[in-house]
Amino acid sequence: MKVISFDADGTLIDLDFVNTFWDLEVPKLYAEKYGLDFEEAFRIVRKSYDELGDEDLRWYQPDYWFKHFKLDETPQKIIEKIRHKVKVFPDALETIDYLSRKHDLIVVSNAPREFLDLGIKDIEHYFSRIYSCTSDFRMVRKKPEVYHRICQELSVKPEQVIHVGDHYKFDYEIPRSIGIEAYFLDRENGSKGALRDLRELINRIKF
Ligand SMILES: [Mg+2]
Repeated sequence: MKVISFDADGTLIDLDFVNTFWDLEVPKLYAEKYGLDFEEAFRIVRKSYDELGDEDLRWYQPDYWFKHFKLDETPQKIIEKIRHKVKVFPDALETIDYLSRKHDLIVVSNAPREFLDLGIKDIEHYFSRIYSCTSDFRMVRKKPEVYHRICQELSVKPEQVIHVGDHYKFDYEIPRSIGIEAYFLDRENGSKGALRDLRELINRIKF
């Protein structure tokens, strides 16, 4: 029996929800607050995201940004407002439904809890554990320590874990480097050796 680990954003769930939150709703609130047009607000907000950078834990946290920009709403309210944007990929649903019959499935995501819980709400019963690196481990990016720590918690060796995700470095190269059987999902370009559709995982896994 192996543990099969899935990235969330871009792998199980569409990025539309997350993108709407950061690139549409936040700039909209910023524009309202400071009396700017959307384009200008968007530029300022994006610049702030980039200046802080995704190596900083705060970059991932809606609460941090709402305070930083002094916005008049709460992230929770905005999340509620756009929750209809959450969409599980049909091929992901088929894959986890099939694999869950014989395997232990988990989620390993960078997304903060607020997003992750809502994002996989409809499919959470398929998974025995759902990890948010940023909220649970206070770590940005899925570094080797993250994968080691998960193996430790589940009392399995890296060789007993399969991981799949849509980030070449953090979902493929890094887990491979510690002995995890990892697969790169490339929905858009279908680069060589990558999975183009999550259902391909079923035939690629070596049991
Ligand atoms: Mg991803």
